[in-house]
Amino acid sequence: MTTAILNERRQQVHRTGQGPMDLACNRDSLAGAVSQRACVFCGSRVVLYPIADALHLVHGPIGCAAYTWDIRGALSSGPELHRLSFSTDLQERDVIFGGEKKLTAALNELIDRHQPKAAFVYSTCIVGIIGDDLKAVCRAMSEKKGIPVLPVQSEGFKGNKRSGYLAACQAMFQLIGTGDVTGIPATSVNLFGDFNLAGEIWIIREYLKRMGVAVVANITGDGRVDDIRRCHGAALNLVQCSGATMDLAKMMQESHGVPFIRVSYLGIEDMADSLYRVAEFFKDCDPKIMDRTRELVRDELNKLLPELAMLRRDLEGKKAAIYVGGAFKAFSLIKALRHLGMQVVLVGSQTGTKEDYEELATITDPGTIIVDDSNPLELSAFLKEQAVDIFVGGVKERPIAYKLGMGFCDHNHERKIALEGFIGMAHFAREVHRSVMSPVWLFTSRKITASTRPIIKEAVA
Ligand code: SF4
Repeated sequence: MTTAILNERRQQVHRTGQGPMDLACNRDSLAGAVSQRACVFCGSRVVLYPIADALHLVHGPIGCAAYTWDIRGALSSGPELHRLSFSTDLQERDVIFGGEKKLTAALNELIDRHQPKAAFVYSTCIVGIIGDDLKAVCRAMSEKKGIPVLPVQSEGFKGNKRSGYLAACQAMFQLIGTGDVTGIPATSVNLFGDFNLAGEIWIIREYLKRMGVAVVANITGDGRVDDIRRCHGAALNLVQCSGATMDLAKMMQESHGVPFIRVSYLGIEDMADSLYRVAEFFKDCDPKIMDRTRELVRDELNKLLPELAMLRRDLEGKKAAIYVGGAFKAFSLIKALRHLGMQVVLVGSQTGTKEDYEELATITDPGTIIVDDSNPLELSAFLKEQAVDIFVGGVKERPIAYKLGMGFCDHNHERKIALEGFIGMAHFAREVHRSVMSPVWLFTSRKITASTRPIIKEAVA
């Protein structure tokens, strides 16, 4: 194994087929390794950020807010208050004398000016150190303004990004159960863990509409506070990004009796399977739902498959690497890349669980590197060793790919092209094809595979 792996990290790397799968995960990142992960605060911010009619106030130094300003390409069909990044801009004086007065003043002014439906107040590292009583300030402000003002206990140092997801779920949970559920139909769901990147949640809502299923709340893409308040009236929760919102789904099941299923809207099988599972759940109260779902899937596949077959001709045998936030997404990506005839040789995530990694070990080919909470040094070494043609990742992985002279596909929260649904699979396939087959690789130092060179040359000519 390469020397780029620090000794303390060796238990977080596994090669499929080489020894028993016992990957260490959900650990705090190794000091000095400059992990690809973000902090606890960032974890909570990415989950709550898309709630578009809420005020999001970051209690901390300006850098925490700047770092997460407009952090997702989460679109809204209405208000866009979420896109503003408010901060109490704590300074040295506040650190010495406390920041509660400043926080109270900021909430007063911002709530009066923007009239939000609720406010989320994020705690950052320094707030955890100086000990501002966020809960007390929020409670007082909530009584004064008559809206929910919710503390998000997300001090950056108190764990890893997963702790931030939990802090976000705990904050949202305070809203659930406070709204009127009158008029919610029996065939209804909440969408958990979809952040409406490039409008993706609208694609999924459209599919569900064609099936006859109502959506009560988007949690959180294109989210609305009033919808979240009444979402306990839905019959089922569909949990996509399990790392981010699974805690909330479990809390709802326990306290409001709403069951959940895990779904994925990426790739062909997982998209279709998710719709069929929803149809299966509701088939007793709507006997025609399965027929409508079959028709929907058939129509979409008829449009999609001919184009995929064409792109596959060029991509057959090319190598791909995946590094994503939650490992669940990686399962779908592996299947999607296989549809394009590609081989996944590296797969990793920031916040995968033991079960996720065990599942990855069973579905990947022998020799595939599986890695938890990696860093640029490791990733660069693995990508070179495996002679990867395209790296599928996020904003922090992009420079690694480009510096190594290899193709990159943005599959993270900044992207501007929808990748969910059947139409998203078409977008994904086109983007992968354009990147792998770009003539630019003829002019970089990376050795492109022998089979790719003539095809690219042909494209240039
Ligand atoms: S919360 Fe802490 S770790 Fe996170 S951005 Fe702010 S200072 Fe940095």
